[in-house]
Amino acid sequence: MTRNNFTVKQQKGMRKRSKDVCEAGKDGTEALYGMAPGERCTRKAQEFDHVTADALKRTKIKSISEGLHVCKLHHDIKTNTNDKPKIAKAKRIDEKRAGIKRSKQTIPQRKALKEVAAKGSSHAAWLERMAKAGKPVPRRIT
Ligand SMILES: [Zn+2]
Repeated sequence: MTRNNFTVKQQKGMRKRSKDVCEAGKDGTEALYGMAPGERCTRKAQEFDHVTADALKRTKIKSISEGLHVCKLHHDIKTNTNDKPKIAKAKRIDEKRAGIKRSKQTIPQRKALKEVAAKGSSHAAWLERMAKAGKPVPRRIT
């Protein structure tokens, strides 16, 4: 699926509207950005955010009112606390409708890799453990 990003013209329009000040919370969007009602941000706006996540909308952007010019922090907050869970849910619903069932089986190899990663299996870590235990540490031949 292609992403519908804002056109340069739309970005310019949003910039003009925001005057490069974060627009998070504008038009009752405070909750989406983790802000209290009426709260405004004064940081420099750097990114263009889709009010409705692009992955959920699937239509072309027609108006700059569909986006907000926001600071990086607020873009990240909304993406992680709002958009990602909604996208994941939409995906699950789509898959269910399409009759796709997710495997409940754990992949043994992946589980084993996780265990190894948890232990810390890198050679450097192993050398460190050996040294701590007072065991002879093989030297690298140079
Ligand atoms: Zn902000």
